[in-house]
Amino acid sequence: MTPVEALACERCGRRYAPADVEYTCPEHDGVAGILDVRYDYDALSDVLAGVLDGPTEDLWTYEPLLPVDGDPVRLGAGGTDLLDAPALGDALGVDALVKNETTNPTGSNKDRGSAVAVSRARQQGHDTVACASTGNAAASLAGYAARAGLDCRIFVPADLPEAKAVQPRLYGATVLGVDGTYADAYELCREVSAERGWYNRNAAMNPYAVEGKRTLGFELAEEAPDADWVAMPMGNGCSLAGVWKGLREFERLGVVDDTPRLLGVQAEGATAIYDRFVAESDDSDAAAPDGGAVADGALDGEDTTADSIDVGVPHNAGKACRALAESGGDAVVVSDEAILDAQRLLGECEGVFAEPASAAAVAGVRAAVERGTVAPGERVVTVATGTGLKDSASAREAVDDVISVDAAGQGLPEDL
Ligand SMILES: [Zn+2]
Repeated sequence: MTPVEALACERCGRRYAPADVEYTCPEHDGVAGILDVRYDYDALSDVLAGVLDGPTEDLWTYEPLLPVDGDPVRLGAGGTDLLDAPALGDALGVDALVKNETTNPTGSNKDRGSAVAVSRARQQGHDTVACASTGNAAASLAGYAARAGLDCRIFVPADLPEAKAVQPRLYGATVLGVDGTYADAYELCREVSAERGWYNRNAAMNPYAVEGKRTLGFELAEEAPDADWVAMPMGNGCSLAGVWKGLREFERLGVVDDTPRLLGVQAEGATAIYDRFVAESDDSDAAAPDGGAVADGALDGEDTTADSIDVGVPHNAGKACRALAESGGDAVVVSDEAILDAQRLLGECEGVFAEPASAAAVAGVRAAVERGTVAPGERVVTVATGTGLKDSASAREAVDDVISVDAAGQGLPEDL
């Protein structure tokens, strides 16, 4: 039995029985009334000991805490490594750890959400799933749909990095390149899915997808109970909000005594959550890394090399800002130049090839240390949310040229 007690509207507070609503609160237009899944915590408490007993194989180790009624779709999401990162820590001036989500089955943390959403879609008898995506969620949904035997339709901005458009097609999905932004793709996906009866996994709209992301919070609580900070990139805001929900729940259930502060990081080209957090935090010292104004590109919201967080209209901004505030955390904005520097730093220091959005979190830690938000020596977990292998063109800007050498060794540098 699923431990879900009700779905509560984030906007008006109305509560619904799980069987009575599918996506958002019917009292509001569009997707304004995001629903939050509420659990029976006495029931969760009863099953907790069994969950915590033994290693975390994958996210289904936490199945009794998830809104899925048996027969989950298994592809290996979750149970990722938490790496100690001494060289990175030396470079940043903190006690660094890296939660390596790049090793999830389709290469990103989105697999945690897809695992839960696709399992629910299959249980409810849907034969087609859909989502709009900047890339990682597309591949993730497509991979999980293939595994579950469901058809998959993906709406992406037409300017997506090539590998991110190839991966979902390889999993058998139909990819629709929308001539527009992520926001345009999101809206079109919503309309068409409603018309055609496809199960919509979209962030913010689907109340269950984010529930899979709680498991990242569970793992962090178990593996790094003494962390001072968790640093994450923010695109739509739902990954950060999901992690916070998981961290808070494990505190509430007595697994840990305390929760870390969250550092939410955005790129200069897409700063909507940061802007809102600053506006809502009267006493916040949140600021651009150099203390100056955010770049002009912030206004159009579609201009950063970190494509996974290039989201001009983040649907979960409110939840993300609440998570940052409740955790006593902060938000920072970093430049594309700082992101590429951080991408190379993470690779060289720790052997993790993360995408630019993930590197933004590393750059954000550096910025937060420089500003004094994060104190020297504090224990900081950086979440590497997705692999860099899907976008080698961006990484190309962060690395040195290949050295040409002939077969006889001519051209080999003397000082190598
Ligand atoms: Zn409502």
